[in-house]
Amino acid sequence: MVSGVAADRDVCVGAGMCVLTAPDLFDQDDEGLVVLIDESDPDPALTQRAVLLCPSGALRVTGN
Ligand code: SF4
Repeated sequence: MVSGVAADRDVCVGAGMCVLTAPDLFDQDDEGLVVLIDESDPDPALTQRAVLLCPSGALRVTGN
C-alpha cells in the first residue's frame, strides 16, 4: 500500500521523469533536483510509476 513517497536529493540526477509522470507530486528546483510538492497520500498508481521510471533510484514508496 502506498501511503507516501520519499525522495533522496543526494541520489537524484535531475532526469525529470518524476515530474513528467506525476506533476502534482514532484517538482524540480533550479538545479533540476527533485522537490516533493506533497508527500502524503499520493495517487498510488502515479507514485509507483514514478518510482519505477526514476533512473537513479532516488524515489521510494513509504508506508505499509
Ligand atoms: S526521476 Fe529520479 S532522478 Fe529524475 S528528477 Fe525525479 S527523482 Fe530525480
